[in-house]
Amino acid sequence: MNPFNELGIREDIVNAITELGFETPTPIQEGAIPVLLSGSNDFVGLAQTGTGKTAAFGLPLLELIDYKKNFPQALILCPTRELCLQISNDIKNYAKNLPNASVVAVYGGANIVNQLRDIKRGVQIVVATPGRMKDILNRKAIDFSQVGFVVLDEADEMLNMGFQEDIDDILSTTPKTKKTWLFSATMPREVRAIAQNYMTDPKELTMGTKNTGNVNIEHEYYIVKARDKYAAFKRIVDYNPEIFGIVFCRTKIETQEIAESLVKDGYNADALHGDLSQQQRDKVMKRYRDRSLQLLIATDVAARGIDVNDVTHVINFSLPDEIENYTHRSGRTGRAGKTGISIAIINSRETGKIRQIEKTIGKQFTKAEVPTGFDVVEKQLFGLVHKVHTVEVNDQQIDQYIPRIMDEFTDISKEDIIKRFVSLEFNRFLDYYKGARDLNADADDRGKERGERSERGERGGRGTSAGFTRLFINLGAVDDFTRGDLLGYICNNTGISGRSVGKIDMKGVFSFFEVETEFVEKVTEAFKPIDFHGRDVRIEVSGDAPSGGSEGGERRERSGGGERRSGGGGYGGGERRRSGGGGYGGGERRERSGGNSGGGFRDFSGKRKDDKKDGGSRGGFGGGGSRRRNDK
Ligand code: AMP
Repeated sequence: MNPFNELGIREDIVNAITELGFETPTPIQEGAIPVLLSGSNDFVGLAQTGTGKTAAFGLPLLELIDYKKNFPQALILCPTRELCLQISNDIKNYAKNLPNASVVAVYGGANIVNQLRDIKRGVQIVVATPGRMKDILNRKAIDFSQVGFVVLDEADEMLNMGFQEDIDDILSTTPKTKKTWLFSATMPREVRAIAQNYMTDPKELTMGTKNTGNVNIEHEYYIVKARDKYAAFKRIVDYNPEIFGIVFCRTKIETQEIAESLVKDGYNADALHGDLSQQQRDKVMKRYRDRSLQLLIATDVAARGIDVNDVTHVINFSLPDEIENYTHRSGRTGRAGKTGISIAIINSRETGKIRQIEKTIGKQFTKAEVPTGFDVVEKQLFGLVHKVHTVEVNDQQIDQYIPRIMDEFTDISKEDIIKRFVSLEFNRFLDYYKGARDLNADADDRGKERGERSERGERGGRGTSAGFTRLFINLGAVDDFTRGDLLGYICNNTGISGRSVGKIDMKGVFSFFEVETEFVEKVTEAFKPIDFHGRDVRIEVSGDAPSGGSEGGERRERSGGGERRSGGGGYGGGERRRSGGGGYGGGERRERSGGNSGGGFRDFSGKRKDDKKDGGSRGGFGGGGSRRRNDK
């Protein structure tokens, strides 16, 4: 006998779910279905998304509905439109062979008139988001006085999203005799309170130990300097050419910026956040579901309830403010028995947060190393070789050219041909990653252990004198300046003595000079109102200055400078490009702003143009089919 039959599910439904590939019940289905089928209990299920909980409550509901009666008998409330559509579609699929079953989805952002019409036709199971449901109740367009079952799905999310009051109002229209089934991934105090307020002696089912994350998900973290975050993220993506991932950012702005940067860098990515219209969100989701999008960059709220199978990686570009949200994020992968990886890219001060998350999810993270350029190149190379091996050949089309192609290659051995084909792509990537830096946060220390000079050391080695700080000024040789002019300019505008000015390093469109560290602030302040032939003159601490203040503040200041520099009348661009990776440390300044969620993205693009090492991968061969498609 089919195990779902054994749990008490009727043949018609079993046939439908068998077609969906459900052969054996998941643990939550096995635990919940017999309890819920009795129809006589309130119920609390603590289960992650992806565990099969929709069927765990959907199948018993379908058993408990009286199909001869055409009024609302069950109400399922869930936090988002996406989840609402998923649940209603899932239940419709389970009920495929039940001709009189009627399920209606009620959610915001869609035409209410159609939903009202569907309700009017008669409905037994209503799946709804709280806001729209309340709207419809206010119009007195639905009667819940005979509802026998209420399901609160992703209860923690509904409370996070501020639906408590709406839920209270909606439930007050349902009879006291109804049974309430609550599902939640986490059980914060507020959810506990709902269970206490609305339920009588609920049966409780916890999947695994409390708050235990999905066992199919591996958790990894990478420690990088804030300025290297974006570059490290791209390396991780390049190292996983088959990635199908969701990338979480903290804010809508960060989400949009990262997505735009990725697109400019040749990746197949798009953003999903609350500032998009419903139509735009639907479009993005459709592309992601269809897999014509490889990376979905999302905020927590926008990504709630997304149920896309086969997500290989969840990447926490920024850790969530609320630890509970980590569970929701990582739960987007490792679904339906598949394995998945949840990655956090953090700075060294965030390790404490990782430890807190470990406690919450009951699982340990693995500390991973950002792949080196060499790792990426090797991985990409063999990815390419594998693709060549498995590519589907269109004999009909290619055959006509084969004789000419063979002709061309007669003087080259098979080995050489292979080498050349592979090199076509390999050289580009090799070139792209040539000399790429170690992006792990402790790279400098490790370099020292190996007796290498770190980047920081090298810049220091260019000789900032003791007691002096190296400053950048956006005036240089092309401004018809000599060293003497510059010295006079500094002294006249700041009042400091020439002895307090150290080495002056004139460049084309900008220069560096040292001043005694105690005068740094005075100098930078003094130059604020100054202009040179109508152009703002700016002074900034150069990359190898001793760090002062918070990293965030410093980054903001620098990214602002970088942005203005690159936009300021077109000067500087050429020089920066020439200086490339090994130049004056401007690279570092630009990269630093990479981690800045506020204004980072223009700097990413600046860096992309200027510094190939971790810049665009448009020329790369690693993006998998989709990235190449994007390049066409
Ligand atoms: P859910 O937790 O309800 O979002 O389900 C996660 C995924 O698992 C969905 O794609 C379901 O279709 C799938 N699923 C649920 N139950 C089973 C089952 N017993 N066997 C195979 N797949 C299932």
